Amino acid sequence: MEEIVTKLIVIGGGPGGYVTAIRASQLGVPTILVEETQPGGTCLNIGCIPSKALIHVAEAYHQARSREAQSPFGLSVSGAQLDFGKSIAWKDGIVARLTSGVTGLLKKYKAALLIGRAELIDGKTVVVQSATGAKRIRAEHVVIATGSRPAALPNLPFGDKVISSTEALSLNGVPASLAIVGAGYIGLELGTALAKLGASVTVVEATDKILPTWDAELTRPVAARLEALGIRVLTGARALGLSTKDGSLEVLENGAVHATALSVDRILVAVGRRPRTEGFGLDRLDLDMDGSFIRVDDRCMTSMRDVWAIGDVTGEPMLAHRAMAQGEMVAELIAGRRRRFDPAAIPAVCFTDPEIVSAGLSPADAKAAGHEVVVATFPFVANGRAMTQDDDAGFVRVVANALDERVLGIQAVGREVSELSATFGLALEMGARLQDIAATIHTHPTRGEALQEAALRALGHALHL
Ligand code: FAD
Ligand code: NAD
Repeated sequence: MEEIVTKLIVIGGGPGGYVTAIRASQLGVPTILVEETQPGGTCLNIGCIPSKALIHVAEAYHQARSREAQSPFGLSVSGAQLDFGKSIAWKDGIVARLTSGVTGLLKKYKAALLIGRAELIDGKTVVVQSATGAKRIRAEHVVIATGSRPAALPNLPFGDKVISSTEALSLNGVPASLAIVGAGYIGLELGTALAKLGASVTVVEATDKILPTWDAELTRPVAARLEALGIRVLTGARALGLSTKDGSLEVLENGAVHATALSVDRILVAVGRRPRTEGFGLDRLDLDMDGSFIRVDDRCMTSMRDVWAIGDVTGEPMLAHRAMAQGEMVAELIAGRRRRFDPAAIPAVCFTDPEIVSAGLSPADAKAAGHEVVVATFPFVANGRAMTQDDDAGFVRVVANALDERVLGIQAVGREVSELSATFGLALEMGARLQDIAATIHTHPTRGEALQEAALRALGHALHL
């Protein structure tokens, strides 16, 4: 077996792993990145990027279709058609551009990319089965960035018409009818897109509300849009499994004695994701775990010295930008810099219709943390840009400490508010006070003005409300 010695081996080429490899190489750390499929991980290949491409196609088609009956500004479109095969090919083209871009970046910064499955032998040794044979790699540092996979339901295993997000992003055609188990990020992002593409969608959610980790004020406009799109939402409902009689999905709704049978073409199970911790020798290291996730400290070091873990395999929030931030930090630590993972906020965006953003503390979280809070919202109905986009649903909300006016959290729901998330994160990271936001000149006409107005309103003198 070929023997290789390096300073750093990274297992997994998703956003966490490839960013670690790029940054470590930039800092002169000899690095090998091992990826069993292709660089980009879940996010670029079967997650963030393909889902946002599909959402874009769906919105464009929906807009064209809804203009058949003429828009308020006089546009009418007739006979809008969608070649779904071309849509999927377009999405695949974007994925290919991005994944080959990652390969190019790794090459540019001289990080070695090894395609193959990695297996941990001990905390410093990894064996990789690659196309050019098995290689034993010895490294001072090992970064585990193996990510996550879709959680399966025991009574509804994947296969045949029961699919995960991976298959939902590469369908041959839009299913006429679709049931979605789970009204979380994936269920609602993809459910909305597929409904806009023409599928009849029913969402089955176990808890009593959609997007249960987001507060009701933020999810209300989303619930209204789901209803407008004709998406049926069953809350407090449990998917029991497929009927042996006709293959329909049996669902028990809150308090009901008899199950409802949903006769659908496809069933998308989107009930969360599980860390990938099995099948690559992790048990040989006997690391401390945090439930099913690998436990890490505030530098992403595991319980074994110089074995690091980042991204989805380390727990919530399972978001690409968190994985990347952890990866960048770990690379710098390995290169000898002093770093700690202590962000003021990890903003989260749900790309539903309308989009939702949350950065920092919600009003309830802030109160629970013992703050005396002031909360102010500014609705998009009073925002010129929103009106000119013919979509004034939603608002921006600011949560601040009532005593020192320090901003604790910023949330928004509305069209394109995902683009405001960086501003929200920056305000929190810079320790902004309400006055800082209120006194910053915001460009007119933009949706961002709603943030300034919310801050002004919290100070008691909104100008446009
Ligand atoms: P991953 O991206 O999962 O990468 C892990 C990599 O490790 C994989 O490429 C895998 O092949 C490789 N690997 C595993 N084991 C081995 C081994 N033994 N040897 C070699 N290689 C191995 N997040 C957002 O922030 N925004 C979004 O809009 C968003 N949308 C999403 C939409 C969907 C449908 C899904 C499923 C997820 C979405 N996410 C989104 C979540 C995001 O994809 C993940 O948080 C992110 O990919 C985690 O990065 P990671 O590097 O930890 O792991
Ligand atoms: P999720 O945790 O967002 O939502 C899962 C939903 O399924 C929850 O509402 C939960 O109550 C429900 N549920 C659980 N078990 C159930 C059951 N047996 N029957 C009915 N409902 C059930 O998980 P997801 O939507 O699968 O997404 C996985 C992860 O991927 C997310 O947590 C997120 O970290 C990431 N993701 C992020 C984005 C984004 O950033 N925009 C998009 C997609 C996915």
